[in-house]
Amino acid sequence: MSKVLIIEDEVAIADLEKDYLELSGFTVEIENDGNRGLARALSEEFDMYILDLMLPGVDGFEICKRIREAKNTPILMVSAKKDDIDKIRGLGLGADDYITKPFSPSELVARVKAHLSRYERLINSNVQDNDIIEIRGLKIDKTARRVWVNEEEKQFTTKEFDLLTFLAQNPNRVFTKEELFSEIWALESVGDIATVTVHIKKIREKIEFNTAKPQYIETIWGVGYRFKV
Ligand code: CA
Repeated sequence: MSKVLIIEDEVAIADLEKDYLELSGFTVEIENDGNRGLARALSEEFDMYILDLMLPGVDGFEICKRIREAKNTPILMVSAKKDDIDKIRGLGLGADDYITKPFSPSELVARVKAHLSRYERLINSNVQDNDIIEIRGLKIDKTARRVWVNEEEKQFTTKEFDLLTFLAQNPNRVFTKEELFSEIWALESVGDIATVTVHIKKIREKIEFNTAKPQYIETIWGVGYRFKV
């Protein structure tokens, strides 16, 4: 069940919003003060924020900015004045939507639903994209850290896996050995760029049908490597 935080100092409005959202199946929490609202928004997990602009303590502009710095959760801003909406847009605070008072509660509910389903789709599509990379006969499961070539699983060391995954995630881009070394080994400060050559050779032995004519990791002479798609 989706959880919504309303930060609104006008109790009657906050209660009305809560009633309508609860009727639509949402779990709703209210804070009437800017400071407390901001603290909860940052320390607890919610699926959506409904944020009034003029609040005691910290105002809605600042709260919106601070939430957006920390998370991508949808934010609907509520304002008493149309002019404020232009101001919110102009400040580029990262709010997803705006609504002016007075508004119909059913319109509020419709907007909350729309933003939540858009956000869920976004999260789900990211999960799928990040999990598995499939390029021709090569399949990399990033979460399980497993690799298959034409359905046959191959064993990779940690660094071989990291290097292969990095290249496969950035296809058709040429990387120098220096770039690859700093990307994969930088934190350890051991070895040198010859390590990259050795690892590419090992990876090719596992994924290429003919290492003399690689179909995945191509050598760009005098520059570095490129993952071909
Ligand atoms: Ca207010």
